[in-house]
Amino acid sequence: MNTHAHRPHSERLYQEALQHIVGGVNSPSRSFKAVGGGAPVFMKKASGAHFWDVDDNRYIDYLAAYGPIITGHAHPHITEAIAKAAANGTLYGTPTTLEIQLAKMLKEAIPSMDKVRFVNSGTEAVMTTIRVARAYTKRNKIIKFAGCYHGHSDLVLVAAGSGPSTLGIPDSAGIPTSIAHEVITVPFNDADSLKAALDKWGSEVAAVMVEPIVGNFGMVMPKPGFLEDLCRLAREYGALVIYDEVITAFRFHYGSAQTFAGLSNHEAIKPDLTALGKIIGGGLPIGAYGGSKEVMEQVAPLGPAYQAGTMAGNPASISAGIACLEVLQGEGVYDEMNRLATRLTEGLASSAAQYGVPLTINQIRGSFSAHFCNHPVTNYDEAQDTDGEAFAAFFRHMLDQGINLAPSKYEAWFLTTAHTDEDIDLTLTAAHEAFKRMGS
Ligand code: PLP
Repeated sequence: MNTHAHRPHSERLYQEALQHIVGGVNSPSRSFKAVGGGAPVFMKKASGAHFWDVDDNRYIDYLAAYGPIITGHAHPHITEAIAKAAANGTLYGTPTTLEIQLAKMLKEAIPSMDKVRFVNSGTEAVMTTIRVARAYTKRNKIIKFAGCYHGHSDLVLVAAGSGPSTLGIPDSAGIPTSIAHEVITVPFNDADSLKAALDKWGSEVAAVMVEPIVGNFGMVMPKPGFLEDLCRLAREYGALVIYDEVITAFRFHYGSAQTFAGLSNHEAIKPDLTALGKIIGGGLPIGAYGGSKEVMEQVAPLGPAYQAGTMAGNPASISAGIACLEVLQGEGVYDEMNRLATRLTEGLASSAAQYGVPLTINQIRGSFSAHFCNHPVTNYDEAQDTDGEAFAAFFRHMLDQGINLAPSKYEAWFLTTAHTDEDIDLTLTAAHEAFKRMGS
């Protein structure tokens, strides 16, 4: 069954990459350090839900490049839009009509945003929302939630989940203590701890920042009432609410987590600022942030908070983003991803149970996380308290049978509009074999 275990070219390229690129990878989350080490797989081509590696093995992909590739790889509508943009010049350094078009699409889908600004990554988007919140409130501190990852800017690399947690460095080196002192971390889904933090530091807090649905210690829904409490408490203390929707926007439905049907009272959970990225760039680099007119008018050239970007709003990224959202406007696309994810999670749960492998699955529409444990996962502590070795074994068995997952127990599985029932069947066969080996 280990049809894909032979990867000599990946091994050789990894050794070469180590000579030239730090750690051999351009983002630490791509390293196999947390799943037993060795060479990550070097891919040479991707199409739809599939990858081909440099040894000509084919893989079914559930990484979706950590989220952005929701329409599958090389979707024809998106590649056409990129080619057209490239032919017309990739970067102008002037405004374009395309930027207005994508800004309008985002505003229509996410009503809390009166004004938008495009940047180049989720990290930049989040970093700037914090600056804007500080400029608006004239306060310095932020409150974040343990295990939420908000990119790699200084302020948010404290108790950061996802990649940093996978590698055992949730609090990065290189961040001045003076900056770390401006960040207060509380547990997700725990309004009492948030209240206690605000009782103590409230008058200094510029913003409470959260992934409204968590995507970085698995997929975790807020408990009923948690976001309502968060918004109410933040406002009581004069702090802004920032939603990091870099993963969640356009992930579960055509819109954001803040308007997702799974969360009830949309008005009571409306943020002041929202950070976006990933899907809205259709696979090219992008980020965006937006919020109420009053708050966004802090940003230069209207206001005193400076933020700029040579590449920001470039026609290639914006065109890819527009094309991606157009695909997502198609009839029934989210229902189909949900249907396939449900087939997959039900099959995974059943095979795991058959071989006595403890598994907790958190599914939210077309994405889910599978935690090797017996308990529910509703916060970072519970996500940490899962079996990393079992995950590593599962990851390896799946990879060797042609299933590409993120090499981290904290990352989600993402369905795309390109996955089919045949992909799910093949994945379930591979998973059954993996659990069988783990259980025996
Ligand atoms: N915010 C969240 C919720 C993320 O998941 C990520 C990346 O995974 C970021 C911010 C950072 O985005 P980027 O990697 O584009 O800088």
